[in-house]
Amino acid sequence: MPPVAAVPVDLAVKVLKKYIAHFANDEFPQWKSEIWKKIANDPELEGKWSIGSVRTNVREDRRGILSEARRQCGITVNIISNKKSNVNENCDISKESHEDCDEDNLNEESDSENDDIHKHERFTVEISRDLWNEIHSLEPLVYKGRKYVGFKPKVWTNAVSNAFWKQHHLKCAFVFKRGRITQHGRSYATIIGRCRAKDCHNPVKGIIKDCPGEVGPVYIEMFCRDTRFVKHEDVKRPLNGTERLKVQAELLKTHASAWRKEKAKDNIDPGDTGSPFVYNLNTLHQAKKETNIKKLGIKTDDMRDMILAIRNMYVDPSYVNSILAIGDTPFYVFYATPTAIYFLNL
Ligand SMILES: [Zn+2]
Repeated sequence: MPPVAAVPVDLAVKVLKKYIAHFANDEFPQWKSEIWKKIANDPELEGKWSIGSVRTNVREDRRGILSEARRQCGITVNIISNKKSNVNENCDISKESHEDCDEDNLNEESDSENDDIHKHERFTVEISRDLWNEIHSLEPLVYKGRKYVGFKPKVWTNAVSNAFWKQHHLKCAFVFKRGRITQHGRSYATIIGRCRAKDCHNPVKGIIKDCPGEVGPVYIEMFCRDTRFVKHEDVKRPLNGTERLKVQAELLKTHASAWRKEKAKDNIDPGDTGSPFVYNLNTLHQAKKETNIKKLGIKTDDMRDMILAIRNMYVDPSYVNSILAIGDTPFYVFYATPTAIYFLNL
């Protein structure tokens, strides 16, 4: 006999409907969100589900409970198309940071894996001394609990790929899985990466043969296929690390489309079909949204249930002079700036 499910489908759907505002789009509440606990403690469930069971059953839509609760509430969530657009539009930050990890994984096998790379074309990339000083450090850096001597995490990948693009205009959007300064090895430094376009995956290996000393530019010899004159998807670099912060600061002063136009002027030469650094509008909108959310102190859970968030603001003393009245069925809010209220009362 198959094991009996602890919570019948009907009951699970009934309870989920009470919290459906948190599941109205394809982004689930965070792992640590209070909502999982709230559902587990719902009196109708009588403690039959632990917080972990709620998370698993809901996130994996076991026995179709989430789909059914959404259907009964008239909520349509197009999960497949949304996820696909995230990947295409460079918005999936966790995926990006994994693929362009900036981290030296100390994997010796990587060298032999890429040795045939020398059969490819060679491109010399000049890094100015100032930029070199920005992207490397000979003092050990601690990042994610590990010590790094060499390239600065979150900084070097964008800087190196940007210099490569500006000087050679290969159509690839290179991401890197490793950058290492060994000082006393066969070469002074090596970097390993590939193009992120699915149909290309052009492997790239960069080498700084000798110690660059203390003055003058530094030269990286890049070995990869020449993709300047081939048909290639207009794929973008992930907008990550300090580059993301820089772009976010620029977007505070301008619109995403204007930013793109300006960037295209600097980056795209006649004959180019695109640039890995002229990010898509969706990526820019997402980056700008993050800045606004941070600036306004909006919590992720607030975005799932606007009505609840506004109710909480109503009782928050910091909004006492802005929100005058709030009510439901139908939902309404009377709000104004403190100056407007002052004039209203004159
Ligand atoms: Zn490519």
